[in-house]
Amino acid sequence: MEELLRRSEKLTTVGQLAAGVAHEIRNPLTTLRGFLQLQQQTGLLNPKHIELMLSELNRINLIVGEFLILAKPQAVQFQKTDIRFILRDVISLLDSQAHLYGVEFETQITDQPVPVFCEENQLKQVFINLLKNAIEAMPGGGHIFIELCLSGENVKIVIKDEGTGMSPDVLAKLGEPFFTKKASGTGLGLMVSQRIIQSHNGLLDIESKEGEGTTVTILLPWAAHAENPGTAGAPEGELQSG
Ligand code: ADP
Ligand code: MG
Repeated sequence: MEELLRRSEKLTTVGQLAAGVAHEIRNPLTTLRGFLQLQQQTGLLNPKHIELMLSELNRINLIVGEFLILAKPQAVQFQKTDIRFILRDVISLLDSQAHLYGVEFETQITDQPVPVFCEENQLKQVFINLLKNAIEAMPGGGHIFIELCLSGENVKIVIKDEGTGMSPDVLAKLGEPFFTKKASGTGLGLMVSQRIIQSHNGLLDIESKEGEGTTVTILLPWAAHAENPGTAGAPEGELQSG
């Protein structure tokens, strides 16, 4: 948990984030501009160029998409929702993608209702981000263990993979915007997930060993014992660092 605190302190302010977004979007825009100028001057744009332009556009779209979910705090409505259904939805959404990678989900989900005050789409986004990371960490296939249970006054979700794991250097950089080791990564998934869990008064902890795998643990207040964070002092700007 100490690691988690240290990491959340590192989360940048709105200004730094905005500068990062601008920078990340400017690169693909510069490429797009270059190709359009080439076409204007020479008319020599070929299918390979078009393919590159589409992938650059796609990248901009991905970056903007990751932020959209955080960018409309006024629209955020916390509702008491059984988190089992959210988790099951995401698992069935990603099941076929996992199969393609030779990855299988093993679930252990409590039979009890587990109501949580939450914004369903935001929590879905968190589970999608974490499960995608787990799948992407296992290029040779394997198992992802997903556990949902009650733990005291909290709801605990554990996502454990048998993937590449992370070196101490990588672990130290987690949660920094745009930190990615992937050729087509955005490096925003974990930062966005951390923010969402924080705004739900929860905790997100990551343990990882290189060559062995990664375990992500999320604690969220069980609605039976919690106030609705969506009505009581909801965060004003989700992108603000706390
Ligand atoms: P992205 O997936 O776009 O790279 P993330 O914020 O989701 O961005 O993750 C940042 C980096 O953290 C990844 O590039 C990867 O190096 C590392 N990482 C995250 N989750 C895992 C995991 N389950 N196993 C191994 N490495 C991971
Ligand atoms: Mg990711």
